[in-house]
Parts: sequence; structure tokens; C-alpha cells
Amino acid sequence: MKLLWGGLVGLLMVAGCQRASKVPKQNPYFSLTDTTEIRVPNGVWEEVLDDGVYTVTREGSTEAPFTNEYHDFKGEGNYHCAACGNLLFHSAQKYDSGTGWPSFWQPATPHCLLFRKDYSEREERIEVRCRRCNGHLGHLFYDGPAPTRQRYCMNSLALKFVANTTK
Ligand SMILES: [Zn+2]
Repeated sequence: MKLLWGGLVGLLMVAGCQRASKVPKQNPYFSLTDTTEIRVPNGVWEEVLDDGVYTVTREGSTEAPFTNEYHDFKGEGNYHCAACGNLLFHSAQKYDSGTGWPSFWQPATPHCLLFRKDYSEREERIEVRCRRCNGHLGHLFYDGPAPTRQRYCMNSLALKFVANTTK
């Protein structure tokens, strides 16, 4: 029996090591408190961001709706930029837009975002970026709920949720 357990543990350890081989990258730019602007080339971001976060925030791709991490997530706390940690949204301003992407009707502060006209689709859209790192987050539409009527349509991969710790 002991031998059998030893073998099992050994097997589990091997499996664990194989899974652990994809260690999360170390990102020296990520901070929940530092608001200093970061402007570094994509080559640098590619070294420090996980692939999905890089593709969305630096290459402007859009993740699939309904299968992403936060579209139906209802935790209470703050949403930060996944690339740099900049505070972007509060859960109190999150709502279900039915689009399959996490949607907010207001940003956390008036100055945490950057806006840019985006002509990549047939219609003109407003691209939303993180002011601190200039990373792509999603788009802004004007079919949201009162009082702002705004819909910040975000990619979950561009967000990092941090739960409220003070209750
Ligand atoms: Zn950022």
C-alpha cells in the first residue's frame, strides 16, 4: 500500500511539474498604487505580459463574448488594468449589457481612461485605452443605462479584478 501511495504521489508530482512549467510572467510595470505614465515599446510588453493580455492590450484584439472571465461576474471590488494595475472601474458601476462582455456605465475616475477614434470597422467607434500604459481596453458606446447612458464595453483580459477587503 505504501508503495502504491508513493507511486501515486510521484505521478501527481510529475503532472504538477508539467503544469507548472507555464509560470506566470513577472510584470515590473504592474502596480495598484503607482499612477506614473508608462510608455514602453510592445517588445517590452511582450516579455512581461501573458499572451492573452498582450494580444488584447497591445494589439487591440477583442476576446470572444460570453466565455470571458468577467462578463457575468458579480464580485464587489475594483477593476484594474491587467497590464499596469491602473484603477479603471468599480463593481458598483458594472451592469449586465447582454453583450457578453463586462460593461460599465462610468469609469472609476474622470481621468483614468484615454479615448481615440477607431475606424477599424465600417462604423466609427470610440476606442477606450488605459491612461497609465496606453493599453487597449475596449470601446465606448452611448446605449448604456442612466444616468450616463454610456457603455464601456471591456475585454476581460484587459482587466484585473481586486476584491474589496474592507467590509
Ligand atoms: Zn494600463
